[in-house]
Amino acid sequence: MTLFVWGYLPEYEKERDDILDAVDTVFRSGRLVLGPSVQAFEEEFAAYHGVPHCVGVDNGTNAIVLGLRALGVGAGDEVITVSNTAAPTVVAIDAVGATPVFADIDPDTYLMNVEQVAALVTDRTRCIVAVHLYGQCVDMAPLEAIAAEHDLPILEDCAQAHGARHHGRIAGSMGQVAAFSFYPTKVLGAYGDGGATMTRDAEVDANLRRLRYYGMESQYYVVSTPGYNSRLDEVQAEILRRKLTRLDDYIARRRVIAARYAEAFAGTDLVTPKTAPGNDHVYYVHVVRHPKRDRILEALKAHDIVLNISYPWPVHTQSGFAHLGYRKGSLPVTERVADEIFSLPMYASLSDIDQERVIDTLRGVLAKV
Ligand SMILES: *Cc1c(COP(=O)(O)O)cnc(C)c1O
Repeated sequence: MTLFVWGYLPEYEKERDDILDAVDTVFRSGRLVLGPSVQAFEEEFAAYHGVPHCVGVDNGTNAIVLGLRALGVGAGDEVITVSNTAAPTVVAIDAVGATPVFADIDPDTYLMNVEQVAALVTDRTRCIVAVHLYGQCVDMAPLEAIAAEHDLPILEDCAQAHGARHHGRIAGSMGQVAAFSFYPTKVLGAYGDGGATMTRDAEVDANLRRLRYYGMESQYYVVSTPGYNSRLDEVQAEILRRKLTRLDDYIARRRVIAARYAEAFAGTDLVTPKTAPGNDHVYYVHVVRHPKRDRILEALKAHDIVLNISYPWPVHTQSGFAHLGYRKGSLPVTERVADEIFSLPMYASLSDIDQERVIDTLRGVLAKV
């Protein structure tokens, strides 16, 4: 049996009564689309972040699409981001007709190398997408300085950073718009697809609400700017409300797991995650690094332990983005890291026994490679 592919089933066994009650609550409410659960979740998720406006949407990719459109980003514009991210970050930029422009990453945190951003700004740049990757935040102060100098909005991609903090500020409260995913594996996951946008700006919020709803002013049924059908499902919203009350517990459990890994691999040549100064990491993915990555993964496979790589192919090397003109060597740190990283099992419902088995097996493998 192959272990350690994340599954929601252990969590479901623990939370089943609550999840089923959430489903029943919606089914008996008489409102299946944009009803009281979506509205309540939006209010509660906004309150958790201390941000006034939240709009529930259908997934994280479309949260970025709507966020960019709400900021006025479109065809012919350039958007600065990173290539070391989940492809949807970049797919969303492409979907609004804009051109992604990539900064390289920091070799220790794997996050955007903010020092490179100023040199990438052109007169077509319209937005910076800061991806708070793996569970910790991009170095915001220097990024905000560049954004302010060039009058550019920052969109935070918070799909991997629910509850992460940066010098006390919570992810999603720092940019002009934030985009969240509730894909089931995320730190706050739905039982299906879901997403949200968040903003402090009432006008941007109004744009987001229209864009989610065909582009209609809902009370007039008139389309001002054509949008999308991008609504958060009522059932998922009610499940997310229940799970939001446990988000801090999920994060605490992830930190315990991360601390155990850190202790277990101290003194080995496996590089464990480094938390940047001022960051409170939520460990969406527990990314480690070793120059003999491929041999390690092969050896683990022989012990029935199959691990993921987030991400093996940087976006700029993928065929769908060949037209952007990047080639091998364009982003040297991103490319080098992609050859050496892999992810240790990390989810709140990971049992101590399973983690112990991963640790023991990997320690054995490391002693031999
Ligand atoms: C998961 C993820 C997304 C996309 O979210 P979906 O809900 O799957 O559309 C976007 N950006 C990042 C960084 C992600 O990890």
